[in-house]
Amino acid sequence: MTIDLPATMFYTHAPITLPVHVICGKKPGPHLFLTAAIHGDEINGVEIIRRVLQLPVMQRIKGVLLALPIVNLHGFLHHSRYLPDRRDLNRSFPGSVKGPLASRLAYLLMHEVVAQCSHGIDLHTGAQHRFNLPQIRADLSDDDTYRLGAAFRIPVLIDSHTRDGSLRHAAVQQGLKVLLYEAGEALRFDEMSIKLGVRGIVNVMRELGMLAAKDTTTQGARPMVSTQSRWIRAPGSGILRSPIKVGDRVKRRTELGIITDPFGEQVKIIRSPLEGIVIGQTFLPLANEGDALFNIAAVKDLDRAAAPWEDLNVVSNPNVS
Ligand SMILES: [Zn+2]
Repeated sequence: MTIDLPATMFYTHAPITLPVHVICGKKPGPHLFLTAAIHGDEINGVEIIRRVLQLPVMQRIKGVLLALPIVNLHGFLHHSRYLPDRRDLNRSFPGSVKGPLASRLAYLLMHEVVAQCSHGIDLHTGAQHRFNLPQIRADLSDDDTYRLGAAFRIPVLIDSHTRDGSLRHAAVQQGLKVLLYEAGEALRFDEMSIKLGVRGIVNVMRELGMLAAKDTTTQGARPMVSTQSRWIRAPGSGILRSPIKVGDRVKRRTELGIITDPFGEQVKIIRSPLEGIVIGQTFLPLANEGDALFNIAAVKDLDRAAAPWEDLNVVSNPNVS
């Protein structure tokens, strides 16, 4: 069943609701929320939730599933990360009844959804023109959260301390176990990111006992865990060429790309300052000095680390010379 939670009004007089699809299992079990498009232009998660809800097995769950494919309706309508006043909904939690719109929506979500749940998965993508390797971000120092992150069966887990004001932080404060899935880029569907997201949610629901465990062991290698990631920024303004794609392993001093002016003069070579895996990169080859170009997750013992994403058909980098 789909419930439309009354949220607010457009200034056109039309009402805005927060649509929640609820599946109640016949037997008790965990209460899991799925949220997408808290950043209104991050749409992979909208398609992930649609596909999860269409799976016939969802009619046989234990516990309760609350699915919210579009949390930031204003942003979704305007292809924007933000709310109309440029506030970031994911920096507005836990919210308040009397604050700005972002704060009120956050409050509604906390009281009507998070308060009913024991677990949550929040779905995100990179920003516009920035592509993220599918990855789970969670507080991996918590054993139960680590177990769910590993169950997602994704190549890289980032041990990320929750940022104040995010849905994840506010929900963890309320005692929930929460994963954040990051994959692909804003305003684009990426098939690999969507498939891995659907598979990951099903795997987590199996781990939680909401779905029957598979007879055979779920496919997928052990994930790599990184406790630190770092954006490498443009050393000068110019046009970027790069052979790098997300999922690549890089050593210290590996060449990540070259920035030149339009005449091919003023060459600046960008080298990795650390050893790790490229978990995010810009797809826009036009860089101002200081722009974030490559996100690298530090991984120790890179040579021995498995590379389970090699069969994932990672998208090609459009900036290859
Ligand atoms: Zn986001």
